[in-house]
Formats: sequence, structure tokens, C-alpha cells
Amino acid sequence: MAEVLVYVDHADGAVRKPTLELLTLARRIGEPVAVALGAGAADTAAVLAEHGAVKVLTADAPEFTEYLVVPKVDALQAAYDAVSPAAVLVPSSAEGKEIAARLAVRIGSGIITDAVDLEAGDEGPVATQAAFAASFTTKSRVSKGTPVITVKPNSAPVEAAPAAGAVEALAVTFGALATGTKVVSRTPRESTGRPELTEAAIVVSGGRGVNGAENFGIIEALADSLGAAVGASRAAVDAGWYPHSNQVGQTGKSVSPQLYIASGISGAIQHRAGMQTSKTIVAINKDAEAPIFDLVDYGVVGDLFAVVPQLTEEIKAR
Ligand code: FAD
Repeated sequence: MAEVLVYVDHADGAVRKPTLELLTLARRIGEPVAVALGAGAADTAAVLAEHGAVKVLTADAPEFTEYLVVPKVDALQAAYDAVSPAAVLVPSSAEGKEIAARLAVRIGSGIITDAVDLEAGDEGPVATQAAFAASFTTKSRVSKGTPVITVKPNSAPVEAAPAAGAVEALAVTFGALATGTKVVSRTPRESTGRPELTEAAIVVSGGRGVNGAENFGIIEALADSLGAAVGASRAAVDAGWYPHSNQVGQTGKSVSPQLYIASGISGAIQHRAGMQTSKTIVAINKDAEAPIFDLVDYGVVGDLFAVVPQLTEEIKAR
């Protein structure tokens, strides 16, 4: 069976959920071979094996943390050369997309970014994507070289599938560009205790209807009752009510959670572009004609200041 390279996103050996989702998709098209780089790379092996990795290629070197992405591309290319895979799958984070794009250029392959599903096809893997600000859903495949595909978080379930997960050291030679751009400092963002927006299974977003930074507390309370991340429309962000890092949409982040709750958001095309692939969409809006109601699974016509706190209380009571 053809091998499929899976780039592992992890923090000191703790594998992030989008990588486990990639393993589910990789198993649809071949045998997953994971590539884990940096401090704690070898510690990822057990959990990767539990989720279907037949092999885990690991490498650790100071270059992976001291410099930007090129050393990681060098390592992924070394894995590509060693394995000759049928496809390369990378999580669709900002870093993942840069790594995937650089690899695709180097190996002369086509790339598909932000896939939300993946299946086997007669002429190679077929990826589902949202196109033109999520107005269309397309199915595409790479027609040149080995497909390099980035996949959005929450695109597949995490499935247990025990496999060998044999750890092998990956020999990496860094090219001249690897040390071209050095990281001089890192400032970790203050933790809110909530899940990362693009990875969260549930996102609760507020828009202009929230009517002030001070009122975002009710959106946060609903999010916390569900263990969700908080998002915001650009109108709310532009008004200074919530940070830009939480903006959902064309010029913000793209999310694809199991559940997206939009409160006081009209549903402009640029907002939809960032959330339309959510599995279940709920909107709370006092205007029954708001365009957001065209794409919801469940809609509540009402004042969010009455509906959202009631919903929070109801959820907390369960
Ligand atoms: P509005 O459109 O003003 O809607 C507010 C809604 O709240 C209304 O439907 C109203 O009925 C409802 N409401 C008011 N009070 C209440 C209440 N008490 N209870 C319940 N409902 C209430 N937008 C994004 O979100 N993300 C982007 O990334 C983005 N990128 C853009 C890029 C470009 C190039 C451009 C031109 C625009 C972009 N926009 C983006 C802006 C987008 O066009 C909309 O202006 C924006 O999404 C509107 O935000 P909103 O829905 O919060 O506000």
C-alpha cells in the first residue's frame, strides 16, 4: 500500500488534534508515515501509533526552533526523498501552509490548501475545498507530481487505529537558506484558558449586535459553558470590542468547527467565508431577514441579550 507522509504539529511531544485528524484522512489513501520534528519529536510516537502511523520519522536540532520554517522544509523534503510517498498531508496552520507551499515548489508538485475533506480517487486523492469566499464547494486533485495537501482543523474525526509506529531517525542536511532568518524572540500570547480558535470544536462568535466590548462577557460566558473558543465579526473587531486575532472571515481566521454559534452577526459574505464549512451553524439575530439565516441549521429570532444568557444558564444546568 502506498505511504502517505503526515507532517506532525506538536508542542514538546504533545500532538495537536489536527494532526490526529490528518492520520484519519491519510488512512483513506494509504499508510500514514508521520514526520515529527524538534524537541519532544520522539515522544509523539506512541500517540501517533495509536492513530494509525505505521512509521514515525523523527529529527531534532536547534535549527528547528532558532530559525523560521526553512529547516523544517529541509527535513520534510528529506522524509519525502526517503519515502517517495503517494501524498504529503500538512495541517492548515499559517506555518503548515508555508511549509507545504515551499515543499511543493521544491518537488515540482501541485498543492491544494485548506481542504475540508479527502478521499481516495482513481487518479490520486480528491480534496474538498470551499472556493470563492465559500460560495462554492469544489472537489479537486493535483495533476502534477506528488499531491501536497493542507487540511483545515476539524475536517475529520480522530479515530483510534493501532499501528506499528516504529520510530526511525531522519537524517537531515540543512541547506544554505535554512539559517537565513533567525528567530530573535518569542512572546507567548496570554492564555484565556479557551481552545485555539481554528482548532476548537465549538466557536461562539459575536458581532456588531453585541454593541460594545463590555457586552462580550455574555458571549464569553456562553463559550465557557460549552468549552468553546470565542470569535468575532470584523465589525466587532474594527470597533475595538474584541482582538483581531479572534476575527472570523475573509480577512480573519477560517474556522470549521462542529458547532458555530453566531450572535448579532448579519452573515455578510466576508464573514461566511471564514465559517461556512462549520458542521452545524446556529444564529441568534433579532432580524428575521438577516442573511445569516440562509445558511443556518438552527436559527433563533430574538434579542441576544435575552437569548444568550438563557442559553448559557440552560447549558450550565445540564
Ligand atoms: P452587521 O452587518 O452590522 O450586523 C449586525 C447584526 O446584528 C444585524 O443582523 C442585526 O440584526 C443584529 N443585531 C443587532 N442587535 C442585536 C441584538 N440585540 N440581538 C440580536 N441580533 C442583533 N467581516 C467579517 O466578519 N470578517 C472578515 O474577515 C471580513 N473581511 C472583510 C474583507 C473585506 C475586503 C470587506 C470589504 C469586508 C470584510 N468584512 C469582514 C466585513 C463584512 O462585509 C461585514 O461588514 C461584517 O461582517 C459585518 O459584521 P456584523 O455582522 O457583526 O455587523
